[in-house]
Amino acid sequence: MYLSLQEIIDLEQETGIPFWELIRREECEETKISPEKLFEQMRNMYREMKQADADYDPSLRSHSGLAGADGQKMAAARQNRELLCGDFINRVMEKALKMGESNACMRKIVAAPTAGSCGVLSAVLLTMEEQKKIPEEKMVEALFVAAGIGGVIARKATLAGAAGGCQAEIGAASSMAAGAAVYLMGGNGEAISHGAALAMKGLLGLVCDPVAGLVEVPCIKRNVIGAVNALTSADMVLAGIRSRIPADEVFDAMRQVGRALPEELRETARGGLAVTPTGKNIREMLEEGSPDGY
Ligand code: SF4
Repeated sequence: MYLSLQEIIDLEQETGIPFWELIRREECEETKISPEKLFEQMRNMYREMKQADADYDPSLRSHSGLAGADGQKMAAARQNRELLCGDFINRVMEKALKMGESNACMRKIVAAPTAGSCGVLSAVLLTMEEQKKIPEEKMVEALFVAAGIGGVIARKATLAGAAGGCQAEIGAASSMAAGAAVYLMGGNGEAISHGAALAMKGLLGLVCDPVAGLVEVPCIKRNVIGAVNALTSADMVLAGIRSRIPADEVFDAMRQVGRALPEELRETARGGLAVTPTGKNIREMLEEGSPDGY
């Protein structure tokens, strides 16, 4: 069980075994599942992500009425070339919104690492496969890379918003996606770790403040931020830029920041956006059973 990314990087440098394969081997040892079977399990998970993206239904609304149809709006605006960020990023934004909305509408999604942050990794990976024409085998390897980063974050800190704030969910998902994106662009373990570090640094301190306690506002749109942050972090690494603080130290800092966050900002819906006048108003409306209009 790897307790740091540095252990994986060192092992990769010593043995020449790639990062993703080291993660698979560790998982095989722990689960006693054969390497081939584990790869197929990961492939199935990737296909589930793809299916969830394809199954997006713009007519659906969440039970609260707060979520739905934004993925479709993004798609329409992208197709009409009305946006600023360029086609690739716009596609990533669209997929992140769609997956977050599908989760809010109780559709099947792949929690990676959590349901609330399910749109980050999927948006980055699915867009990269589509736009860069990357073979599925490589995408599955990238999922192992992401899983390796997520595993280290879980061991060093947490992946739960209730324990560490949203930095532990969207932040961790972004870190995983950045490392996976760097890998898909040819990066080794050292480069992967810098992608993961830069992404987490950008979201350090992010609080968990879901309006009315639902994983909808601000969660869905934070998936967009997490996905785009992953890509800008990966791009910095591909340009030769490195994180001054190593990834493992960034994750340690994330744990410390999470512990320092007051309970109000750790999924209790008692702080941040949840207690803004509008946030409180939405909660009251939902408690009175009149979600229409939201
Ligand atoms: S705000 Fe809280 S519930 Fe929403 S995605 Fe972030 S950690 Fe999860």
